[in-house]
Amino acid sequence: MAGSEKRERLKEFYLEIRNCTKCELSKTRTNFVFGSGSADATIMFVGEAPGRNEDLQGKPFVGQAGRLLDELLLYIGLTRDKVFIANVLKCRPPGNRDPRLEEINSCKCYLFKQIEIIDPKIICTLGKHSTQLILNTQAGITSLRGRVFKIGKRLILPINHPAAALYTPSKMSVLREDFLRIERFIRHEEEYRGYMEEIEELHEQKPPGPGGMSMKDYEGVVLELGFESGFGSDTDAGEYEPGEAPGIADSGKDKGEQLELF
Ligand code: SF4
Repeated sequence: MAGSEKRERLKEFYLEIRNCTKCELSKTRTNFVFGSGSADATIMFVGEAPGRNEDLQGKPFVGQAGRLLDELLLYIGLTRDKVFIANVLKCRPPGNRDPRLEEINSCKCYLFKQIEIIDPKIICTLGKHSTQLILNTQAGITSLRGRVFKIGKRLILPINHPAAALYTPSKMSVLREDFLRIERFIRHEEEYRGYMEEIEELHEQKPPGPGGMSMKDYEGVVLELGFESGFGSDTDAGEYEPGEAPGIADSGKDKGEQLELF
């Protein structure tokens, strides 16, 4: 699909879902935060959920963690208009609490639809929640960060959430190291073969350990998503089809003013 067509499809999708009321977070949000960046990006960054500033501005990663993300992108020669940045949840959990399973289950199809439209070669998951969702695992970010996974044709690179480095400065060097690795994968695609030993097919993952969501919960996630047959394929990244999503009110408006697409 051409970049211009992806852009149009993303805009249509935004207009379709921006008034979503599928979960309780719709009652407390100030703004729905769709995500922003290039509709034709090679790489997507996926965080957890909007924070206070994101909620107020309707844009992803605009607070302190966002400024750090900008710095890290610049560190490897990228800017926001070259990547796409989104979150697992499109609305802010009150008080920045962790996303709840039911909220993730309600919202994840939107992220997967974005992935389907943008069709990035690389997805960089920022922190625990996006990593566990995309990799379909309960393993902690500590054990997954720095490794490279492959789902279908896409590479998944889990790294720490930039906010973690704000609170623990020693994690900054790890974050920079991970961004340099990202750069290698973006800029030297022809050298993928040289890194193949780092790529681990998901089916080789060990069953997740205790903590976080229970295995039963996660089996539900897989079932609901059609994860194995959907995400990572060329056909369908989720169960959502425009116009069919429940709980979406049509405001009749066609603003799109908070949508930053390049
Ligand atoms: S499902 Fe997502 S977009 Fe819809 S209200 Fe919940 S968090 Fe917001």
